[in-house]
Amino acid sequence: MVDLKGQYHGIKERVDASISEVIENTAFINGPEVHQFQKELEDYLEVKHVIPCANGTDALQIAMMGLGLKPGDEVITADFTFAATVEVIALLQLTPVLVDVDPVNFNIDIGAIKKAITPRTKAIVPVHLFGLTANMDAVMEIAEQHNLFVIEDNAQGIGADYKSKNGSTKKSGTIGHVASTSFFPSKNLGCYGDGGAIFTNDDDLAHTIRGIVNHGMYVRYHHDVVGVNSRLDSIQAAVLRAKLPNLDVYNTARRNTARKYNEAFSEIENIITPTADCDSPKGICDNCNCHVFHQYTLRIVNSDRDALVQHLNENNIPCGVYYPIPLHSQKAYRDDRYNEADFPITNQLVKEVISLPMHTELDNEQIDFITRTVINFVNK
Ligand SMILES: *Cc1c(COP(=O)(O)O)cnc(C)c1O
Repeated sequence: MVDLKGQYHGIKERVDASISEVIENTAFINGPEVHQFQKELEDYLEVKHVIPCANGTDALQIAMMGLGLKPGDEVITADFTFAATVEVIALLQLTPVLVDVDPVNFNIDIGAIKKAITPRTKAIVPVHLFGLTANMDAVMEIAEQHNLFVIEDNAQGIGADYKSKNGSTKKSGTIGHVASTSFFPSKNLGCYGDGGAIFTNDDDLAHTIRGIVNHGMYVRYHHDVVGVNSRLDSIQAAVLRAKLPNLDVYNTARRNTARKYNEAFSEIENIITPTADCDSPKGICDNCNCHVFHQYTLRIVNSDRDALVQHLNENNIPCGVYYPIPLHSQKAYRDDRYNEADFPITNQLVKEVISLPMHTELDNEQIDFITRTVINFVNK
């Protein structure tokens, strides 16, 4: 699904040199690279505060702790996402409220959010699934009306631009009150181990969060709040500093691959290709980068998705099903409050979706082979 080795060879000198430097300096924790990376990412995103931490799941949890959410507070999020999002809500004894998604962009459904709001609702967590920013204009409008926090789960969306109705363009993860991201190796900006970060433009929240990631300490050995230990280590920061200057190039390569896939599948009836949801609803436009294609995900309709997975496996083509089970049906997150009739889209998508190889090193020959193999199957 990804070619991390091919990507490494393109930046080997820089990565090797910066890792060696960390080892020579032995500042493995909180070394200068961590602070430098933080600044560079703040500049890239045009956000006031980046707080590095140990992984994307911690980032979500810490964001929720920083906002002071309390047990019993309801947090609305998408039914169709990776489990980390709902996991931390449950861990903090907040009440997860899963809602259905939109069939076109796979992101949280705005009507479903509105229906789920109660007097106990405190926050909404839109997930920028597969690299496409959720409808943040609508999410922010609802949040303002109901006085809710918005926590963007930006683990799959780093580098994406979001164009607002008002004409402004912002990076995903800088629109809500706070956002989380992951530097897991296969993410669009991945390190060589675990890593994550929290973003916010709110000075007070940033201060609170900087203490939480460091055992609740604001003054050494004075623990004002219950915190956690969640750090990005210096070696990972060094890798990320080497890769950040390439993030836009990487995301453009992903978009170009998606465009080629979309063209190849455009006439195929049983395949619904992903939308870019920018100015051009069907295609992937050249002069904006709304979608960063963390995953390239098709819907296979009126055909057998599981048999296609098997067919691709037999032809040595990696593929993935993200995600095969709706979160509301997972044993850990089932709840009597949920009604199957409230999740028609997620229940359908889990049967239809398939993600094809998507990374920065795919060449035309590979893309041709993949698309021909898929088309042969669905047309047979
Ligand atoms: C990867 C991911 C996470 C978790 O990130 P980790 O660094 O693996 O903890 C959270 N949310 C989404 C949507 C993700 O894709």
